[in-house]
Amino acid sequence: MPEQKNYDAIIIGGGPAGLAAALSLYENDVKDILILERDRELGGILNQCIHNGFGLHTFNEELTGPEYAKRYIHMTKEAGIAYQLNTMVVNIVPVQTEDGVFKEVTATSSEFGFQQLRARAVILAMGCREKPRGALNIPGYRPAGIYSAGTAQKFVNMDGLMPGREVVILGSGDIGLIMARRMTLEGAKVKLVAEIMPHSGGLKRNIVQCLEDFDIPLLLRHTITEIRGKNRVESVVISEVDENLKPIPGTEEEVKCDTLLLSVGLIPENELSRNMGLTMSPATRGAVVGENLETSCPGVFACGNVLHVHDLVDNVSKEAEKAGRYAAEYIRSFALRSSLKNEPDPESTLMKQFARRNTTKNVSDPVKAVENPDGTRTYTLPCISCPAGCIVSVTVRGESEILSVSGNSCEKGEVYAKNEVTAPVRILTSNVRISGSDREVLPVKTASAVPKEKLWECVKAVKELKVQAPVRIGDVLLEDIAGTGVALIASSDAGLSEQF
Ligand SMILES: Cc1cc2nc3c(=O)[nH]c(=O)nc-3n(C[C@H](O)[C@H](O)[C@H](O)COP(=O)(O)OP(=O)(O)OC[C@H]3O[C@@H](n4cnc5c(N)ncnc54)[C@H](O)[C@@H]3O)c2cc1C
Repeated sequence: MPEQKNYDAIIIGGGPAGLAAALSLYENDVKDILILERDRELGGILNQCIHNGFGLHTFNEELTGPEYAKRYIHMTKEAGIAYQLNTMVVNIVPVQTEDGVFKEVTATSSEFGFQQLRARAVILAMGCREKPRGALNIPGYRPAGIYSAGTAQKFVNMDGLMPGREVVILGSGDIGLIMARRMTLEGAKVKLVAEIMPHSGGLKRNIVQCLEDFDIPLLLRHTITEIRGKNRVESVVISEVDENLKPIPGTEEEVKCDTLLLSVGLIPENELSRNMGLTMSPATRGAVVGENLETSCPGVFACGNVLHVHDLVDNVSKEAEKAGRYAAEYIRSFALRSSLKNEPDPESTLMKQFARRNTTKNVSDPVKAVENPDGTRTYTLPCISCPAGCIVSVTVRGESEILSVSGNSCEKGEVYAKNEVTAPVRILTSNVRISGSDREVLPVKTASAVPKEKLWECVKAVKELKVQAPVRIGDVLLEDIAGTGVALIASSDAGLSEQF
């Protein structure tokens, strides 16, 4: 018989949603918690997102994915919340006991074998996965060189491996855009990003900093209609599409490449939810939940990307905190609540948010400069300081004398626009080879932004660097990268006995 243990709450998934939910339960006086995580470390997808841009709302700082994750991992460990790694949950069923309806969670792991655990409440935080090639029906053989963008991201950022050298990316959501820059910084030639819609699905800042900075073309209203090559990808055929998103005959163009990255959408990871018979939403492809984030099964809550795909991890943490709070409430009133049926609200606020999210994105305009009759120049550019994306105009005399700034709605926007037209700066995130730890590569970043014109010199310095573990997050690896006066620092731990 498998081992059986009872908990107040079990959380499935140790990503940002699972960790924030666990901490919220803990703060609401539920201490008997277990997090089950199938990966070898906590942190979820953030561990492979080594770029910056996380935590602006939660911490008022621009962190990389591993830095953001580490803050939650640290708090989880400090609180003494139990977690089990390398443990895959394969089934959840409600079971009636003398003490009410428990949720029985079946998990497997190489260390603990087959386990059956019981909890009063379960929080689903399994994240999402990428749509595969099979979902696209692109004609062609099945050659090597076709990857989902997230898989390529894991290869490059966590394993230090390059999937290819000449790359085409299909899909201009944030993952596609971020991988366009990442592959470029690693020495690949990204030929283009093709997007079937008339606008990009990515954040403005990513269009500016991942495509425009590197002159990578974004082809809107285009898709891939054929993949050529039998053993390895040799080229793809790109076609323009009409208003019904159907390829227009005669517009085909062959683009030579050895790698195709697909970034065509994320789907909530909901096998467990479906197997347990939860009511699912066709709009979000996550479980239907009430305002309290409880699913159609009483005592089972859902949050994060398993509920609906989020752009910002800050929103994931916020939602998970709420799920933890309501789960704690459920646990307190367990005896009463277990017999009550929760009626889910299909028009929940979350679903409305999702619908809004899909309609508010658009593509940014590149920086445009107009010569004025008096010899000054006016630049028009999208501000990327926040998602509002104000279009800002900056008038400049000579090389760099700013005469006026308009169109911005905050001071940050003014500072950004002035810098962008006179002396643009960027934070560089990358990774370096490391020895003496179980990692191949260590995520690193510049401690502050470096001049954009110095970016490639900084990349070269990073590529030449080799470090020796142990390394702690924030350790200075280079005092002054490429003569910029800026330090290069570790953005993750490696080789520490206890990775706090
Ligand atoms: C490429 C990329 C770039 C991004 N860039 C940004 C950005 O710049 N700024 C920003 O704010 N946000 C960004 N995001 C979004 C943000 O990272 C995610 O929204 C967030 O990580 C989702 O958290 P989660 O906990 O729901 O899911 P995840 O992080 O995916 O965690 C889910 C966890 O559940 C585990 N799991 C799944 N199934 C099981 C099971 N059956 N048993 C046990 N464990 C299981 C998984 O292993 C995983 O660890 C980005 C996301 C991606 C993919």
